[in-house]
Amino acid sequence: MEIAQLHQLFLEHPTVCTDTRKIEKDCIFFALKGENFNGNSYAAEALKKGAALAVIDEPEYATSDRCLLVENTLETLQKLATFHRKHSQAKVIALTGSNGKTTTKELINAVLSKKYRTIATKGNLNNHIGVPLTLLSIQHDTELAVVEMGANHLKEIDFLCRLAQPDFGYVTNFGKAHLEGFGSKEGIIRGKSELYDYLTAHDKSVFINADDGVQIEKLKSYIKKYGFSSKNHEYYPITLVDADPFVKLKAEETVIASQLIGSYNFTNCAAAVLIGKYFNVALSDIKSAIENYVPSNNRSQIIEKNGHRIILDAYNANPTSMKAALDNFDQMKGTNKTAFLGDMFELGPTADEEHQKIADLVSSLGLKQVFLIGENFKGTDTSIEKFKTFDLLREHLKENPLKEDSLVLVKGSRGMALERILDLL
Ligand code: ATP
Ligand code: MG
Repeated sequence: MEIAQLHQLFLEHPTVCTDTRKIEKDCIFFALKGENFNGNSYAAEALKKGAALAVIDEPEYATSDRCLLVENTLETLQKLATFHRKHSQAKVIALTGSNGKTTTKELINAVLSKKYRTIATKGNLNNHIGVPLTLLSIQHDTELAVVEMGANHLKEIDFLCRLAQPDFGYVTNFGKAHLEGFGSKEGIIRGKSELYDYLTAHDKSVFINADDGVQIEKLKSYIKKYGFSSKNHEYYPITLVDADPFVKLKAEETVIASQLIGSYNFTNCAAAVLIGKYFNVALSDIKSAIENYVPSNNRSQIIEKNGHRIILDAYNANPTSMKAALDNFDQMKGTNKTAFLGDMFELGPTADEEHQKIADLVSSLGLKQVFLIGENFKGTDTSIEKFKTFDLLREHLKENPLKEDSLVLVKGSRGMALERILDLL
């Protein structure tokens, strides 16, 4: 089937589903394949549950005339999304970077939706499936689409750019995340820069954090850039007022008191201010959008429990975000400061070295107590208490509860699920 024809069907049924547990009435079901499942085998069920059509790529599952057989379902989804995007009026703002993409995306969307009809990536749907799904959520009257792009190896952002054809882009930072796939810090810079490569090759505009040396260097000869900076007055000035615990920033004469903790969230907020300014959103609206944004999903949340104040940052971790979290924790005022740090995944051959660096950093901070959790941290050379598994930590805390009135930091990779610590405090 031609993509234009499929697009016609999509306009009649403009909702896409890929999971039979979340079928919406009258949607188009795309039968995708994963390592452990074949979506084709769910096509009949999707139709029974209310899908209007099912796009499949294995003929034996064509059980009804509402099944559309294509060569490859995933590629069809991607082509449909690109076709839809090309025929929409919306301007696309793409975001990538090592840390802070989702937070920045949500802040930008909150700001821009004050003045425009926007859509944005839902949650963290930022890969070769999530980006097409985001593009397919563009409505006929959408003015701006904020699209998060994630990558853990080279060429991925380039591919996602060709799907989304962004008009604007922003890279949150170049940090040490997904080192395994990128090989090195240089690999990460090259990978994330694929967004710059696409934008400059297509004469599109780039937003930059002009306090970031890598961004300045990468784009030094490019004209179409709009930046913020806390020190370089060639760019729009935005300064950090303080971050104890919530980030407060100042643009022009306006102070914005966010509900985000961690000085690293300054750049995330500043990017949203800059982009709002670029699109002529009033500073008072930018302020209220940022002030009303509350992070979700264990991303830098503050929780008060049993007299403790807990910074729950258990959504993910990598060497850069771990260091940022520790530097910030070090600056915070509080009693009985205690850190629970879990392993950082996807570091490849540098895993030992990176865990050792964090162990050394945290021991230099003079915290009251530190607990290192996981196999990688277990292997570090340090006098800090180490627990190979979460269960061992649980046993330990049963016998040795924390001192009252502790200020607690909890951070580790998603797979460590350190939010479980809340039940132990
Ligand atoms: P993912 O790779 O899962 O999509 P992401 O890039 O979307 O992650 P967020 O979900 O916004 O990032 O934030 C995850 C965590 O990263 C936060 O809880 C915080 O610890 C850390 N973080 C956020 N922004 C920054 C930043 N600018 N610099 C360093 N660390 C950050
Ligand atoms: Mg994300």
